[in-house]
Amino acid sequence: MTDLLLRGGRPGGAPADVLIKDGRIAAIAPSIDAHGAQVEELAGRLILPAFIDAHCHLDKTLWGGPWVSNTSGTELVQMIENGRVRRAEFGVPNEDHVTALLEQMVTQGTSYVRTHTDIDPEVGLTSVEAVLAAASTLEGRVTVEQVAFPQCGLLIKPGTAELMKEALKAGVGTVGGLDPAGVDRDPVGHLNIVFGLADKYGARIDIHLHDSGSLGAWEFELIIERTKALGLQGRVVISHAFAISEVDGDQQDRLVEALAEVGVGLTTCAIYSDPIPPVAKLRNAGANVALGNDGIRDLWSPYGNGDMLERAMHLAYRSFFRSDEDIEVALDAATYGGARALGLAGYGLREGASADLVAIDARTPAEAVMARPTRSLVLKSGRVVARDGGLL
Ligand SMILES: [Zn+2]
Repeated sequence: MTDLLLRGGRPGGAPADVLIKDGRIAAIAPSIDAHGAQVEELAGRLILPAFIDAHCHLDKTLWGGPWVSNTSGTELVQMIENGRVRRAEFGVPNEDHVTALLEQMVTQGTSYVRTHTDIDPEVGLTSVEAVLAAASTLEGRVTVEQVAFPQCGLLIKPGTAELMKEALKAGVGTVGGLDPAGVDRDPVGHLNIVFGLADKYGARIDIHLHDSGSLGAWEFELIIERTKALGLQGRVVISHAFAISEVDGDQQDRLVEALAEVGVGLTTCAIYSDPIPPVAKLRNAGANVALGNDGIRDLWSPYGNGDMLERAMHLAYRSFFRSDEDIEVALDAATYGGARALGLAGYGLREGASADLVAIDARTPAEAVMARPTRSLVLKSGRVVARDGGLL
């Protein structure tokens, strides 16, 4: 692989050249003289670490397909049922739609994706297979990690746990869960299965938790207890996590401290008027926050375009962040926070890290979030995979 020199850019903000060798950042310095290297002139563009979508649902997408007016109702159970009943009508999952959405994400500068893939007795593992096929088409441009996700419930849909086990045996690396109380109505039973599978197969955990108020907060405690007992620190994520923003201040403080201490992270998508976690408080306490798009153009939602800068803007806006420093906290959830959630040790804008980078015409990271210009250059493992918004 020919060395690549990014000349005249501003990695993180300060002017410097970036030398890339064998897919990794070999040097970041004011002026690098690299003979024989391919050169990309960045003319002062900002360089950011590539984005991480830590929570989406690729298998559900209709991206590139027909426009479908949403019919899902507003309650969670209505959305689940609508998605389940209508998916066959639109040929969901569809490998081509998944591929098209991944291509869109790459052009927006996303380099890693964690996607929650539906597993239930009706679809079996067909969604897992469709996502795998699309991910292999885009191999080298984006890394896709699947979560074995019981979208229709776990205990209330007999056979689902066995299918999740099959998915884990086939290489899916993360176990999902869904509202252990609100959907499955048996929090202890649900979590024992999820944590049992993670323990047995060495998998990570990422649980959808919409359950609200004191019920949801109690489920936080159950998750924290099990994480501690099984030594899964740093490997467990609660997605959406509405309850933490709904309990009183003292209880919120205790939960924040426990999350930080035990290494359970949160992932938010900052969609609609759904509750978002107290991002600044969590970060100050040392607890991780990641960010994702959730569903994109599917039977659940007509919204979304795969752009993590847009998601970061929504998170900043919903958090009432206005200073550059605060807006960078929201952007961090779309970059380093996502890397921590997914356990990506080799990620970052530093020497030795994988050269997963985005160059963009903005003066500061905060301006990038507010203006969201076309991505000038996107690199994955040192390879240019998109230029000026077009896939290469
Ligand atoms: Zn989700």
